[in-house]
Amino acid sequence: MSDKCGQFHPVAFVVTSHETTEDFKIFYEALIDMCKTLKVKYKPVYIMQDACPASKEAILLFFPNVIILMCYFHVKKNVRDHKKLMPHENFDDLMRFLTKIHYSHNKDEFKKNINAFKKTYENVFPAMYEYCASWFEGVWSNWQIYHTKPGCANTNSNIESFNRSVKRFTDRKKMTMTSALKKIFKIIVYYSTEFSEFETKPKYNKKTKEVAALYTKSNFTEIRANKIRCTGKNSTYILILNDKNSDVLCSCTCKYFIKSAVCAHLLAYSNLNDLNLFGRAYSKPVKPVLEKFISRNKKGAKKKVGAPKKVTNCLERE
Ligand SMILES: [Zn+2]
Repeated sequence: MSDKCGQFHPVAFVVTSHETTEDFKIFYEALIDMCKTLKVKYKPVYIMQDACPASKEAILLFFPNVIILMCYFHVKKNVRDHKKLMPHENFDDLMRFLTKIHYSHNKDEFKKNINAFKKTYENVFPAMYEYCASWFEGVWSNWQIYHTKPGCANTNSNIESFNRSVKRFTDRKKMTMTSALKKIFKIIVYYSTEFSEFETKPKYNKKTKEVAALYTKSNFTEIRANKIRCTGKNSTYILILNDKNSDVLCSCTCKYFIKSAVCAHLLAYSNLNDLNLFGRAYSKPVKPVLEKFISRNKKGAKKKVGAPKKVTNCLERE
């Protein structure tokens, strides 16, 4: 589960040998049961996943009205896996274009951006274009920032980094189910005791604070009460204060606000006028000390990369 600051909070773990609809059904059933027992209201509006039809089918059995979103991180990862479809030297530009598509403000802008993408790549790199275009329509095409309310996560990349941290706990060793479960309990204790609070409001980070400091009162013009024009170097945005449609009661037309529910323009205006629109500055929690939970490599020892040879068959059924 991710909070309004995009922080990841693990709430349940599942060990499965296959990723079939039946497996996901058992998982969601158990999760719903657990919430009932704990008297926690569990009615998701959005569920983020990668392109996994089995998971999608199971989700819709329990939550027919939920909006299933495609993870932007996985779209990029899949495109990166097809890197060979075009010359290496042009690949970074293409990735930047995909980022631009991700930041589309609305459906019209998304259409405009994918048309521009078509014009740029369809004839020069047809194979790569075809591959990327498969992510522009159909069930797995909703990975742009406008699909969610500002501040909601747009990727499940947090799960990927979590998977990486699990490998630190297990030291990439092949385990029996019992010892794997023991490790998982250790991970649960670690995340329950060492991690940060569930934030219900977005908070600005250091970068936003730095950019906001560059603005002065001359950048802002009041159009009418609560509606302010912010004129920057290359762009103009409209800020609305007391915006009842916004969870944070203010909004800005910039892409950063649409993604994170906080932006330098609103923060600058708030600071220059002592409005206190946002809470304290948000800085990522200091990485908790993992020592008591994991075994670490000895100082100077060569860092292990990838799975050790011995465990190459660790995903086999036994
Ligand atoms: Zn803004």
